[in-house]
Amino acid sequence: MSQKRHIFGPVSSRRLGLSLGLDIVPYKTCSFDCVYCQLGRTTNKTIHRREYVPKQLLTSELKDYLAEDHDRIDYITFSGSGEPTLNSKIGEMIGEIKQMTDIPIAVLTNGSLLFEKEVRDELKNADIVLPSMDAVTQDTFEMVNRPHDGLKIENIIDGLKKFRKEFDNEMWLEVMLVKGINDGGGEIERMASAISEINPDKIQLNTVVRPPCESFAMPVDAGEMREICRMLGKKAEIIMPRARKAMKAYEKGVENEILTLLKRRPCTVGDISNVLGIHRNEVVKYLEVLEEDRRVAKRMHKNQTYFVVSKDEMRSM
Ligand code: SF4
Repeated sequence: MSQKRHIFGPVSSRRLGLSLGLDIVPYKTCSFDCVYCQLGRTTNKTIHRREYVPKQLLTSELKDYLAEDHDRIDYITFSGSGEPTLNSKIGEMIGEIKQMTDIPIAVLTNGSLLFEKEVRDELKNADIVLPSMDAVTQDTFEMVNRPHDGLKIENIIDGLKKFRKEFDNEMWLEVMLVKGINDGGGEIERMASAISEINPDKIQLNTVVRPPCESFAMPVDAGEMREICRMLGKKAEIIMPRARKAMKAYEKGVENEILTLLKRRPCTVGDISNVLGIHRNEVVKYLEVLEEDRRVAKRMHKNQTYFVVSKDEMRSM
């Protein structure tokens, strides 16, 4: 696990294998405030691009990291504490990383700024871009993504289409489905039509399996996921997080630290991240495994998700 400020992981990612995360905006700077966001509510909702994390700092942290001896990393991934394309130096960062290593570069983005030519150009040297699109009508877009006032879904879809045409590498589109919000038949039919015009290489369906920032954001059940997957055509597949215990990025020591902390008091993902100095994205992945093993459980309090140690785990500690 890295102690660098703007690098986290590597974490095991269902889609990208072993992925080293680059965090280039401060927590939580985003153009959206999605009801399902695992990072918590957006505190700086903006479409203003600037060098939030200096390029020089990021590249020097990465250079130091790569100089050490590490397991093979499958991807270096821009993701983290918000929307990475808000950093106005992302294009230059990608260019400099390309000079440093031949590890492929991925960008996880909400796609909200791809209607700007400058942003599309800045991503052109990435090896894979994974935008999300959760709605095609403005009403549903506002309900699920709670975007910045300046954003219109029509323009975002147009940006996705343009990006697909201009970008030479892989583009995988993620759709996050939230029960009762964007899973209605009409929305999905319109989505299928928009997606066929965008023409991504893959369509990856996900639902709310990680603790959302809003308790009303509920998952779509497995049967409905399969039906929606069928409606979206041959390129569509369902992706769900899976247990990572067997994977090399999972560290027993970190798991024990989380359990010891939760034994003392219930914590949110943010609390665990602050106390243990681990990036929120990593904390979420450990909690996923611990919850699946019934070693921790979720509790809602004042509309926030807290984690507690399960009774069985308490007895065994
Ligand atoms: S899920 Fe992504 S796009 Fe949505 S609020 Fe969280 S960081 Fe922003």
